[in-house]
Amino acid sequence: MKDCIFCKIAKGESPSYKVYEDKDYMAFLDIFPKSKGHTLVITKKHYRWVHDVENFSEYWETARKVLRQVEKAFKPQWMQYITHGLIPHAHIHVIPRYEPVESAGFLPTESLSFSKEEMEEIAKKIRDAI
Ligand SMILES: [Zn+2]
Repeated sequence: MKDCIFCKIAKGESPSYKVYEDKDYMAFLDIFPKSKGHTLVITKKHYRWVHDVENFSEYWETARKVLRQVEKAFKPQWMQYITHGLIPHAHIHVIPRYEPVESAGFLPTESLSFSKEEMEEIAKKIRDAI
């Protein structure tokens, strides 16, 4: 879809810190990370909502594959999935959580800021954690 930022990322027309890609799906770091390793898993084809995706179970299997890589790379206390629709292209947030689940809020309250070099290093660590 024209002017959709995630379609542009999927086509390689906009840059991203890519961590995973296959023929139908792609994962890259959220540029406003809630934690170190916060990743978005998208479909390459444009869908408005996660529940619109044709191969819904395959999409979630892919998200789990990416989650395992993030988990292996950073050994968080636990892992979280979130979906909502602020960006109008299906995406699943995969968020490593470093605080105990018992005392954790629904989401980390602040976005973190990493340098370009740190983001590249984080993405590489996830890519390498197969
Ligand atoms: Zn799109």
